[in-house]
Amino acid sequence: MTMLDAPELTAAEIARAVARALGTLGSAPVAYSQVTDGIFGDVDAAVAAAKAAQKAYMGCTMKFRRQIVAAIREFILVPENLQYMAEQAVLQTGMGNVRDKILKNRYVAELTPGVEDLVTEAWSGDEGLTTIELSPFGVIAAITPVTNPTETILCNSIGMLAAGNAVVFSPHPRGRDLSVWLVRRLNAVLSGIGAPPNLLTMVAEPTVENTTALMTHRDVAMIVATGGPGLVRTALASGKKTIGAGAGNPPAVVDATAIIDKAARDIIAGCTFDNNLPCTSEKEVIVVDAAADLLVFEMTKAGAYLIKEPAELKRLEELVVMGRQANPDWIGKSALEIARAAGIDAPSNTRVLIAETDLMHPIVQVELMMPVLGIVRAKDVDQAIEWAILCEHGFRHTATMHSTDVGALTKMGKLIQTTIYVKNGPSFAGLGVGGEGYITFTIAGPTGEGLTSARTFTRRRRCVLVGGLNVR
Ligand code: NAD
Repeated sequence: MTMLDAPELTAAEIARAVARALGTLGSAPVAYSQVTDGIFGDVDAAVAAAKAAQKAYMGCTMKFRRQIVAAIREFILVPENLQYMAEQAVLQTGMGNVRDKILKNRYVAELTPGVEDLVTEAWSGDEGLTTIELSPFGVIAAITPVTNPTETILCNSIGMLAAGNAVVFSPHPRGRDLSVWLVRRLNAVLSGIGAPPNLLTMVAEPTVENTTALMTHRDVAMIVATGGPGLVRTALASGKKTIGAGAGNPPAVVDATAIIDKAARDIIAGCTFDNNLPCTSEKEVIVVDAAADLLVFEMTKAGAYLIKEPAELKRLEELVVMGRQANPDWIGKSALEIARAAGIDAPSNTRVLIAETDLMHPIVQVELMMPVLGIVRAKDVDQAIEWAILCEHGFRHTATMHSTDVGALTKMGKLIQTTIYVKNGPSFAGLGVGGEGYITFTIAGPTGEGLTSARTFTRRRRCVLVGGLNVR
């Protein structure tokens, strides 16, 4: 069977293919020597396999691409898969919590755009018909972070395959075994419905050397780098078309016109989700003086523990901050684990540790990625906005504001210029969860593509038919 006559599958047939793939593969982490489906010993082999797969994939119909996306969604939503991915992610990376990781993967399945995202533009007139077609780049190198080990691979897979590409993943080494498991499973699911083998590949050892070799490989047409500033800088230096999805340090601004109890609950919901791992999560609060006492009170009612003792704050800082970075040992840990380690006697229902600090305190300025939130008092909303911009470090990533003053909301949005700007909601509303819009786990601030989706992974091509098909 050639790919041109790949089977047209019903939903039930896709479900059976997913079930077959699940039945044929064990769930234990795999040793390198056993790895075959999409997993390669070196970069050249992984890229060559993806290149061959992409060439075959070009012969498939758009309908078949839709079936591929449907199969991936179905695979994710199998309850055992959701559970396994979440548990293993927490176990292997030591970060986040199972409940929220299940939700994150579920949202990927339900809210990531597929083939429908590839909208053709057209002009017709006396000279004929011209369309802009969104065509694949070819082989994409996708580098993924430890903070969303399965979410990014799954979300990228849906968008990149919907767009007609093949992908070589380079995941973070701390999630290596789970990534191998996932890429193998996805390949098994896809080959079960007749897709070319190796549309999704990875190198068994995702070292920095291998990732660098991948990013500079001649057959890689596009790099999608999701991670910290070092990764994005390296990817941009490759000279290839790069989508850079980098770090953030999202501030939450609260002014005196906000509905304070709701603002407190929203901030707590956003900043505790998956133990603050999402790059979009609230990382510090700037509140106007007039609203600060009430906000802190409402936050403590909603599960925050307020650190008042300077000695406790000092111990916390020494534990979680390493120079200008977060201590990786505490990234994605729960508030209680962090409190215990810092010798802070927080009650067992504590969801986040908060402390009033000055603006330049490290727990405000450093992207901590853990449920620890500095609260900074500003004299008025103008100062709050100015300070929020300072905390965001020009990453242009995410910011939230709680206010009923349209002028203030507008001013903040204009000045901070973040890719995601949520007004009066938790940060995850900006990912389509409790807010309108689709989800992605690759938010391209530095290179400006914004919330990536299938169309981001395409080239715009103009197709011109001269002198015909204008029927107006
Ligand atoms: P990280 O930068 O340490 O690692 C990300 C990936 O890049 C990993 O696969 C790692 O192995 C690789 N890597 C890192 N430096 C490299 C280099 N110099 N050369 C080659 N490969 C390199 O980030 P992390 O700790 O895995 O993830 C957390 C960071 O990612 C945070 O800063 C967070 O804000 C950011 N992030 C951004 C987004 C987004 O969409 N913008 C999404 C998730 C995470």
